[in-house]
Amino acid sequence: MKIIYSIIAPIYNEIENLPELHRRVKEVMDSAGEPWELILVDDGSTDGSTERILQLAETDKAIRPVIFARNFGHQVAITAGWDYARGDAVIIIDADLQDPPEVILDLAKKWKEGYEVVYAVRAEREGETWFKKFTAAVFYRLIYSITDVKIPVDTGDFRLMDRKVVNVLKQMRERHRFPRGMSAWVGFRQIGVQYKRAARKAGVTKYPFRKMLKLALNAITGFSYFPLQVATYFGFVSAGISILAIPIVAALRLAGSHFFEGQTTTLISVLFLGGVQLISLGILGEYIGRLYDEAKGRPLYIVREAPEDQ
Ligand code: UDP
Ligand code: MG
Repeated sequence: MKIIYSIIAPIYNEIENLPELHRRVKEVMDSAGEPWELILVDDGSTDGSTERILQLAETDKAIRPVIFARNFGHQVAITAGWDYARGDAVIIIDADLQDPPEVILDLAKKWKEGYEVVYAVRAEREGETWFKKFTAAVFYRLIYSITDVKIPVDTGDFRLMDRKVVNVLKQMRERHRFPRGMSAWVGFRQIGVQYKRAARKAGVTKYPFRKMLKLALNAITGFSYFPLQVATYFGFVSAGISILAIPIVAALRLAGSHFFEGQTTTLISVLFLGGVQLISLGILGEYIGRLYDEAKGRPLYIVREAPEDQ
């Protein structure tokens, strides 16, 4: 039986959401009337989700469990989903039901019209704190303005991609991943579909501020050299200011002014430039660390248990 739709849900401690996720995906996909599979990627859960996934897989052959040996992160779990998906259309969805499975039908409609990437745009977000909404809004706009690919704003990982696109993405084995950037980068015919992002069904967010920051860094370093160039711009600006300042200060001193005397001015400029240099070093370190990770060439993830046919 040829699978048409592969739905990928990364799972990290979502035990309470699993039955409902399965029920709603099944209801929606059965109504679509074409063969589908649900790939549940267990990203090192510790709350019993793993066992629950395996139980569900016993009862429904449409479920394909991929169990990681430990927590590798949301982005890597999505990647494993791509690797194991067999369908012609591959859909990524959050397991907490913030992305309503019913929207998959809207995505599929656009796919049937010939679009190869159909991403779901969050027109509204329910049940999230103002801090989350604010940081998300800043994040999307920052990424949009400084990266080299035009990554659609207010768009998460919830999307449908054609087999052609997934085959390209499967070849991109970079370690510090930003899937929505990668799927924008590949090109193809892309379109957005608006939807209302629901509140999390149960449990708490697995994205504390620290993880969001890490994701933002992956997005920026993965798709832009801008931070590296900032040091250069800054160098030019401060050199420019010095060139202007030298004759002015010299003239003032010759004219007998005491305005630039004392070590405070010296100290401030030394500390300031020292700070800028350290920050620039840190940015260099960030890129070098990533290079080092790539050079090691370790596997992106390790599975403890997974379907045999990949
Ligand atoms: N997730 C994961 N690994 C992680 C963190 C999260 O697989 O290390 C999954 C999580 O189970 C959920 C999805 O990624 O299905 C999105 O996470 P979450 O809902 O916590 O993020 P938020 O919606 O708050 O941004
Ligand atoms: Mg969520």
